[in-house]
Amino acid sequence: MESQRIGLLGGTFNPVHEGHLQAAEEVRLRFALSQVLFIPSYIPPHKQTTDIALPEDRFAMVELAVRSHPQLVASSLEIEARKKSYSVITLNKLKAIYADAWIFFILGVDAFLEIETWKSYREVLEQCRFIVISRPGFDLAGAREALPPEYAGKIGDCRGAGSVGDDLLSRFRIFLVSIRALDISSTEIRSRVRAGRPIHGLVPDPVEEYIHKKNLYQE
Ligand code: ATP
Ligand code: MG
Repeated sequence: MESQRIGLLGGTFNPVHEGHLQAAEEVRLRFALSQVLFIPSYIPPHKQTTDIALPEDRFAMVELAVRSHPQLVASSLEIEARKKSYSVITLNKLKAIYADAWIFFILGVDAFLEIETWKSYREVLEQCRFIVISRPGFDLAGAREALPPEYAGKIGDCRGAGSVGDDLLSRFRIFLVSIRALDISSTEIRSRVRAGRPIHGLVPDPVEEYIHKKNLYQE
């Protein structure tokens, strides 16, 4: 029987935006994933500034954002842990929950470029498959330079816009995927809110309402 395929998208989600949703939907379709879990990271409240919203607020916004996307799911796995979560630990938990599934770690090339700084990154690369997605302003091919040369044979390019076939899936562990990425970042949204500029269309409407109602990201 075909294994179930689960995607995970980690991040601060400070706040979640249309770029995250677009990326998750496109990857979900191309890799035939049954679900993509959005997993906001825990950042301790003592780090709280006007620039980092509370974990509960970041999670609430993710929940609002995925409501209209049945296959995208908000996961409180890292927030519930109440301490800094490392990917190696999160993946062990997910592998226990989805024992027979194939897990795909989805991340933007900007995030993948830092993978050597992750705790136990070699182990993390053994734990699951990786989908590295393009992001405006970053060179997707640069992802190859992020890892030592012995990983070169594990990295495959997924060209074209169609679904990714079983041949590629069985040959590689790390997939470089050019998507129709939107030029949106949480940093830009926070600075717009601070400056009193509109964020309409950059985040889902209920997230926009939440930010204004709770006065997030104000001076
Ligand atoms: P910030 O500006 O605060 O860093 P961000 O927009 O980069 O926020 P994150 O929560 O840091 O959002 O991102 C979570 C994951 O989503 C990362 O792997 C990141 O590369 C990816 N990502 C974020 N925005 C986009 C986008 N517009 N297109 C493709 N990938 C994205
Ligand atoms: Mg980021």
